[in-house]
Amino acid sequence: MRHVAVIGTGPAGYYSAEALLKLLGDEIRIDMIDRLPVPYGLIRFGVAPDHQSIKAVHKRYEKVALSGKVRFLGNVLVGRDVSVPELVAAYDAVIVATGAPRDRPLGIPGDDLPGVIGSAAFVGWYNGLPEYAGLAPPLDVAAAAVVGNGNVALDVARILSKTRDEFAGSDIVGHALDALERSSIRTIHVLGRRGPHQIAMTPKELGELGHLEAARPQVDPADLPSSEADAALDPGLRKSVAHLRDFAAAPPSGKPKTIHFDFFARPVAIEGYGRVERLSIERTRLEPDGRATGTGEIYTVECGLVIPCIGYQTPPIEGVPYDEAAGRFRNQGGVIGGGLYCVGWARRGPTGTIGTNRPDGIEVAERIAADLAGSGGDKPGGAGLDDLLASRGVHVITFADWQRIEAAEAARARDGSPREKFVAVEEMLGLCRS
Ligand code: NAP
Repeated sequence: MRHVAVIGTGPAGYYSAEALLKLLGDEIRIDMIDRLPVPYGLIRFGVAPDHQSIKAVHKRYEKVALSGKVRFLGNVLVGRDVSVPELVAAYDAVIVATGAPRDRPLGIPGDDLPGVIGSAAFVGWYNGLPEYAGLAPPLDVAAAAVVGNGNVALDVARILSKTRDEFAGSDIVGHALDALERSSIRTIHVLGRRGPHQIAMTPKELGELGHLEAARPQVDPADLPSSEADAALDPGLRKSVAHLRDFAAAPPSGKPKTIHFDFFARPVAIEGYGRVERLSIERTRLEPDGRATGTGEIYTVECGLVIPCIGYQTPPIEGVPYDEAAGRFRNQGGVIGGGLYCVGWARRGPTGTIGTNRPDGIEVAERIAADLAGSGGDKPGGAGLDDLLASRGVHVITFADWQRIEAAEAARARDGSPREKFVAVEEMLGLCRS
């Protein structure tokens, strides 16, 4: 029997487990470890609550979890409850699939002022991630600035714009739904340091902004390159740019909120007395190599909330070689060495869609299967870990426990919503104890 531990139960972890099951069949047992009592990582806490069709992929992961060869061990923090060397000693292979849940800092003066909230924290808040449940972002302000031109910036701008009714059918947590309904934000600036042809927004997600009940996207036609230049773009980007052109051409709508795309706009300082009051922005110009350089022209935008959506980092774990500059684990094609492997954003950084993690997981699973062929078979696997955790008094949450949490969340859901998530770890543990 081969024993594999996976640290992290998001998409990358489950796709790796699925691939290992396919390759090694009855010859493998997999333990999936999560620091939280609930599985699915980015699916539960990252994907926007109004994108339920994307979240539905958790059903595929559930099949893996219920295969009889895979265990879920929730509420186990690697580095506190068990160390990486202990896992390596107990399992034939250890896959690090911890994602990239930490915000990259904006790195400008004032970026630590109250009212500057990175996208990991803001998204975690409206998705019920326990550590951000008490965030209370300042929504009693007239304007917010969302920094970045990727899909996370779009998620954040859309969530700030939607009416309560537009969240019907979503699983946005109650505390965020109530706070957003009371929000006085009327202007949302989406700042791109480069231009419309350099956005990282996909067409479906960008197109959604054109159908909001109470908000209108606004693009300055002067920021758009000539339409002939669109022909050279790849098809997806061309569609996204077509949406921007539609937004620029749309007549005023009378909708109370505006999502204003500010292109060629690089934040240089965040200012305010004890909290964010304004953002100082330098106009940029695009160099032939595609980089943005400052023009020296500075303007300010009044705003009480700044949400940098500029990418994420993987937090280091003791015992796993880490690449500080890249913000992820040091690896060669997913192989870290010494029985350690990594997948997903922990392997390649925060890029790609949920589905990108599938080939990534398959590749690393194939590598593990090859490395394990004809060797080992004498590691204790889960039995060894169980002994360690029991001796340390860790309250391990099983998949059956999670299913009780899941059922309780469904039972207390608002009308039309699939679930009302628990946001306190203690509450979830209490439910499992009862
Ligand atoms: P992203 O796609 O890498 O976009 C990051 C944005 O931040 C870019 O526009 C980048 O501009 C900008 N940026 C980076 N550093 C900056 C700085 N110092 N100042 C100003 N702007 C800066 O990252 P993301 O939006 O976090 O998304 C992560 C991944 O998840 C992406 O692959 C995304 O497609 C995916 N995702 C998908 C969905 C969906 O499919 N619905 C939803 C959310 C996320 P430059 O281009 O100039 O560097």
